[in-house]
Amino acid sequence: HDRAIRVGLLGEGITASLTPPMHRQEALLLGLDYEYRVIDIAETGETPDDLPRILDRVLAQGYDAINVTHPFKQRVIDHIAALSPSAERLGAVNLIEFGEAGAVGHNTDWIGYRDAVEIGIGDVRGRRVVQVGAGGAGSATAYALLSLGVGELAIADADAARASELLARLAGPFPGGRVRAIALDELPGAFSRAHGVVHATPTGMALSPGLPFDPEAVNRDAWISEVVYLPLETQLLRAATVLGHRVLDGGMMAVGQAYHSLRIITGLDPDRARMRAHFLGL
Ligand code: NAD
Repeated sequence: HDRAIRVGLLGEGITASLTPPMHRQEALLLGLDYEYRVIDIAETGETPDDLPRILDRVLAQGYDAINVTHPFKQRVIDHIAALSPSAERLGAVNLIEFGEAGAVGHNTDWIGYRDAVEIGIGDVRGRRVVQVGAGGAGSATAYALLSLGVGELAIADADAARASELLARLAGPFPGGRVRAIALDELPGAFSRAHGVVHATPTGMALSPGLPFDPEAVNRDAWISEVVYLPLETQLLRAATVLGHRVLDGGMMAVGQAYHSLRIITGLDPDRARMRAHFLGL
């Protein structure tokens, strides 16, 4: 590169996101001339419908890549030339690279979560896992768990249609009936037999505090994994820790998606442990 690598984060209400400082710090330590800007439609006064214009502007401004978050992860798909196979199967993009061949969409959320499970939990092959939440984060965690070979994945969502939609999306890439959608009232039974539980709803964030489900219902030997990372220790993780569960915080996934995005953008191998340490200090 004979000029700065220019990257951004496109989303709505993202001024508190920890992704920009993670990229900036690691890029600095890698010795790169690297800009990471925030493109927040809550600040520019634009709406999600302005997406085509926003993408044109980003291209004209010479961006090499952008990360994409709520509410654009699905919407951007109609505006990019090519998708990585997993982004295509997930129907969600969180990284767009602008290259000679046009825009290419990737999904590093699921890879970030896959690595988080491998590092923080270990081998989950053949295990019974229950997941609560089937939205954007839940699609990535479910995809990762099935890729890692879990034996059974039961998914529940307060909006039952979302659980069945996710099931339909996963049935193609993961045939064999390992994944099913269950109703909320089936959770206690499923929890009692689970080897692991994944929480993938926004419950526990500052704006929606509380517990998403009763952790007392979960098999004491099961690990409990969280996608929420602001705060890093949610009410669920605190309760789970007190009950003696092994826990995986949402920060591991957040660091993982940033690590893989930076790796794809730069072609270098960032230092994931250093990124995690920096993240914990933010
Ligand atoms: P989303 O709105 O796409 O999906 C949330 C789903 O949870 C919805 O389908 C909703 O019906 C369901 N739900 C809400 N409350 C529920 C409850 N009590 N029981 C059952 N289902 C319930 O949201 P999202 O984009 O998936 O984000 C969820 C959380 O994940 C947010 O806190 C977000 O910040 C976090 N997130 C973390 C990472 C990470 O890297 N750690 C990545 C993406 C998202």
